[in-house]
Amino acid sequence: MMVERADMTREEEAAFWATHDSADYWDDSEPVEIELGPRPDNRCPVCGGVLLSRYRDVEIAGGQVVLREVRELYCREGHIVRLAPEAQRLVKALEAVLQLASPGRSPAFRRVEETT
Ligand SMILES: [Zn+2]
Repeated sequence: MMVERADMTREEEAAFWATHDSADYWDDSEPVEIELGPRPDNRCPVCGGVLLSRYRDVEIAGGQVVLREVRELYCREGHIVRLAPEAQRLVKALEAVLQLASPGRSPAFRRVEETT
């Protein structure tokens, strides 16, 4: 049995697969080759070790704003430290907003050093 799934809306397709077993349609399927995109950049460029996560406070806009518990990635061998991708996006977005609010201020951010 061949089903014209291409004519279905997403909702119809979802309803269809909620009540049908894809194993019944394997014979109608054709193998496809897929190419995987680049892996997430979660390795240290120096030693190749997987980067670990930790959470720190980050100051932006010259200390005007402190972001609490921002995730950063670090190599356990101490080679690199950088903000996690979602944290980079957050910092960029906030810096852009702060730049609009007070033009001329440096957008540079720095980590708040831990006090021990
Ligand atoms: Zn490393």
